[in-house]
Amino acid sequence: MELHLLSDGYFTLDKSLLVYTKYQGQIYEAALKPLLIIADKEKILVETGIGELPETYRKFHTIKRKPDQALKAQLQKHGTKPEDITLVINTHLHFDHCGNNASFPNAKFYVQAEELRYAYAPDRFQKAAYLKKFFDANLDYVPVRGKYRLTDKIVLIPTPGHSIGHQSVLIKGERKNLVYCGDAAPLRENLEKRNIPGVLYRADQALKSIDKLRSIKNAAYIYSHDNEQLQI
Ligand SMILES: [Zn+2]
Repeated sequence: MELHLLSDGYFTLDKSLLVYTKYQGQIYEAALKPLLIIADKEKILVETGIGELPETYRKFHTIKRKPDQALKAQLQKHGTKPEDITLVINTHLHFDHCGNNASFPNAKFYVQAEELRYAYAPDRFQKAAYLKKFFDANLDYVPVRGKYRLTDKIVLIPTPGHSIGHQSVLIKGERKNLVYCGDAAPLRENLEKRNIPGVLYRADQALKSIDKLRSIKNAAYIYSHDNEQLQI
């Protein structure tokens, strides 16, 4: 199994959205880092980045991306075309995690059922995080309920709190277990200091999810937006 941490560039946001009650007014260049997993039978992509934001969103977030940081160029570096991707795992359906979903016509998309349902009718306080045209693009969704063993090495682990149906991904290795946290821990400090994210569906669940990830043995973590961690 080959693992490659890719890029879809960066987008700016107020850093307080990543850490609850901290960093108000500080602009952070958040990394976007889909993970490519080349397994025996499948080519799997965890997250699809942010793609191109509509005008109304560009007022609040600036995308910074060199041509070779675009997701398609990144896949190409590893001899992979979008059509080759057979499985996509979205940790959740916030716009910065499913922006290129429509680019993968041959993939099945594994998302928690609750997340998919909620994305169509979010509460007022989470509305801006979901962009219907990003996830509702005639795609082959496989709604998952709870913990789900995708292959004998890859397990989807429910980690709600940041969003209603957030999931993280455990990739079992011989020496270490790689954990793709998603927005359960967008930065290293979320996990290491047990600081919950600033965007929340439920704060108590967010903390439980961080503790669930911390309890995984021999873990190496990938933080969804940490711009100081660009390699695995
Ligand atoms: Zn999110």
